[in-house]
Amino acid sequence: VREPEPYDHLFKLLLIGDAGVGKSSILLRFTDDAFDDHQQSTIGVDFKVKMIEVDHKRIKMTIWDTAGQERFRTLTSSYYRGAQGIILVYDVNRRESFENLNHWLQEVEVYSTGGGREIVKVLVGNKVDKERMVPREEAEAWARSKGMLFLEASAKTRTGIRQVFLEVVQKILDNP
Ligand code: GDP
Repeated sequence: VREPEPYDHLFKLLLIGDAGVGKSSILLRFTDDAFDDHQQSTIGVDFKVKMIEVDHKRIKMTIWDTAGQERFRTLTSSYYRGAQGIILVYDVNRRESFENLNHWLQEVEVYSTGGGREIVKVLVGNKVDKERMVPREEAEAWARSKGMLFLEASAKTRTGIRQVFLEVVQKILDNP
């Protein structure tokens, strides 16, 4: 029997965005350093647990993946409940996934009210290893107008993946 690892903070993070943008792949790359080119969407909400150290603090994260539910264009309030951070993902190669961000942000705002503190949000443009159909400056400006951090990443090549989670955790810790 393994003793549970001690931690200083427990954070719930959510991955949100259109189907196929790479949410599951980002999660798998971060937690298992794995990537599957033929990743199949699974049904039902799933999450993974990951420990990291930031500012000499042990952070235990539960990172939730919609695992296909987003195809129905809506997630349940229980998915959002208690989340400290939201990672909003689009595919830099698929403009439509960027256009749909407003829809996802609206949903986030409906569900993530209450509970006191402001929820930390980061925008991630995934698949930067592919041709870019959304200019970086445009996404950056959109994120800034919504008070979000912005990063580009590739679950395939590992670019920016760890940075995404470090930035979210750092911002949650800095949250008054
Ligand atoms: P989800 O529906 O948002 O969870 O997306 P998936 O993680 O299932 O990824 C959808 C497809 O995009 C899969 O075939 C992945 O292998 C592929 N994919 C995910 N991330 C990347 C990436 O960074 N680059 C490339 N080229 N393909 C990716």
